[in-house]
Order: sequence, then C-alpha cells, then structure tokens
Amino acid sequence: RMLKRQMQCRLDINRLNAVFLAIYESLIPSEEEKVKQEQFFMLLEKLVNKEWPEAGLYLYGSCANSFGVSKSDIDVCLAIEDAEINKSEVLLKLADILQSDNLQNVQALTRARVPIVKLMDPVTGISCDICINNVLAVVNTKLLRDYAQIDVRLRQLAFIVKHWAKSRGVNATYQGTLSSYAYVLMCIHFLQQRRPAILPCLQEIGHTYSVTVDDIQCAYFDQVEKLRGFGSGNKETIARLVWGFFNYWAYSHDYANAVISVRTGSILSKHEKEWTRRNGNDRHLICIEDPFETSHDLGRVVDKFSIKVLREEFERAADILHNDPNPCATLFEPY
Ligand code: ATP
Ligand code: MG
Repeated sequence: RMLKRQMQCRLDINRLNAVFLAIYESLIPSEEEKVKQEQFFMLLEKLVNKEWPEAGLYLYGSCANSFGVSKSDIDVCLAIEDAEINKSEVLLKLADILQSDNLQNVQALTRARVPIVKLMDPVTGISCDICINNVLAVVNTKLLRDYAQIDVRLRQLAFIVKHWAKSRGVNATYQGTLSSYAYVLMCIHFLQQRRPAILPCLQEIGHTYSVTVDDIQCAYFDQVEKLRGFGSGNKETIARLVWGFFNYWAYSHDYANAVISVRTGSILSKHEKEWTRRNGNDRHLICIEDPFETSHDLGRVVDKFSIKVLREEFERAADILHNDPNPCATLFEPY
C-alpha cells in the first residue's frame, strides 16, 4: 500500500510539474513583443539624444531582468552625469519632448517618491515609466538577469511566484505587500539555500564586474556562462521547488530574527543589521536585504496588517499544494 501511495505522489507531482511548466511557458513574452519593445526603446533613445546628447538611456526592471511576463510595462532610466541638474526640470522637459512626438498619456509625476514620466506608445500599446539617474536599479537588473542565466528553474519559479502574487493581490508596495523585485530576491535566496545548492552566491566569488554607484560598490562574478550547470547536482523539479518555496515562507522562516541575504547567500540576523526595532516607517516585519544597498530592507513597506495578509497567503499556498488534488485552479484564484 505504501508503494502505491508513493507512486501516486510521484504521479501527482509530475502532473503538477507539467501544469506549472505550461503556465510558465504561457507567461513568457513572445519574440514579436520583444522586438516591439526594442523598437520603442530605440525611438525613445533618438528623442532623448537630440536634447541630451551626452545622456544614456537604459532599460531596467522586468523588461530587462528576464523576469518580465508578457504585456508588462517597461521601465527606463535616463542617466545624466551632470550633478547640477534639477530632476523635476528634466522630467518636465522630457514630458514636453515626448508629447510633441505624438506619444500618448504623457504625465510628469515630479512629486512621486521616485519621480517619473509616464507615457504610452499608441502604435505598440506599450506603457513606459522613465526615471532619472536611478542607476542602482540598472545594476540590480543586471544582477537578476545574470542569476537567471545559471539555472532555468529560477526563471520558472519566479514566474510562478509573481503570477501567484499578482493573482492574490500581494504584489503592491503601496498596499504594504512586496514588489516583484523582492519576490525575485526571495526566489534567488531560496535556490541558493537548497542542498545541493541550485544557485551560487555571485557576490561571494571573484569579482569580474565592478561599478560604484552613489558611493555604493557593486561587484560580483558576472561570467555566468561559466556557471551553467552549477545546480545540476540537484534534481528537484519545479513543482517540488514551488511547494518548498511556499512551505519555507509559511512555516520555516524565522520572522522574528532572520534576514534573507542574496549578497551573502545566507541568513543574517536582524540583530546584526540593527533591524530589530521599528525605525521611522521601516518596520522590518519581513526582512529582505537589498544585494547592493545593504541598509535597505525590501520588506520595510510591510506593516502589521499586511504582514498578516502575506503570511496567511503563504500558508494558504503551502496548504493547497499539500492537500488539494487540483491545486493550480485554487492557487491562482483571484482574491
Ligand atoms: P513587474 O513585472 O511587476 O513590473 P519589475 O521587476 O519591473 O516587475 P518593479 O517593482 O516595477 O518590478 O521594479 C522595477 C525595478 O526597479 C526592479 O527590477 C529593480 O531593479 C528596481 N527596484 C524596484 N524596487 C526597488 C527597491 N525597493 N529598491 C531597489 N530597487 C528597486
Ligand atoms: Mg516593472
């Protein structure tokens, strides 16, 4: 009987695996969509360089970190070296230029926490946010993209987790839940911690890439083509990893004391980071260290209400994967 039960489990997990892979495949942006994004980006580059010939335009966020699902907005950073610039003036000027080139819904949000220009390209339907000099985001985008090259299971896991978070309404920092960036870091950390490890810790091995941004040194091993197959000693399937991920955040993470750290590939203590107490608006109820801006906790947006929501959602997901004979329907059920 036990053998029969074991075989049944294996069948279930394999079936589930196929379902997760199908969801992953269905979320990947098409080549056509990628080409449109690139063309739109080139148009922006042309417009921007006419006004600021010295400036650089960079893609960042999910359109460039390989964790973007189909139909995502694109995030663009305008890098201007001149230290004297007034960001609001530049944004207003930029909005002007874009408006006169027939782009739609151009809005300069100069008072936002991260001031941006928002716009839409009527030809492709692509929406876009442009910020100024957010170079750290361009660098952390590269780090995420490099991690994704090492083992395909990272991209698969992160797509499933992001899809889950959007379906369940726990992917909105303005509501006290977590950003997509935070979820991807949680996935990287989780795969670094598997035994055998599925991902290495790129910041702990010989640095082949190094830049200093806003006085922060960002350095890591970026020759990731040399690390393909790193995780091949670990045969865990995507279904097993999704279950393990939710189980970790539902039942194993030490919310009172632990900080997850992709930078070190380990768990640090809140104590050593001095994240034990509320500090202004930073509550540190779930702690995710930014890999470069190490004083920055990506969980700081989570408050005493939303932490409950988040943890209940992790538990719900873990329980569904454990008990539900047809978990995918329930797992991604709109909230
Ligand atoms: P989505 O597909 O949901 O748009 P995204 O990866 O673009 O996912 P966003 O939350 O839009 O995620 O963030 C865009 C980028 O901005 C991130 O990839 C990251 O580079 C940077 N970023 C976002 N939040 C932070 C943060 N709190 N600290 C540092 N960088 C951040
Ligand atoms: Mg984005």
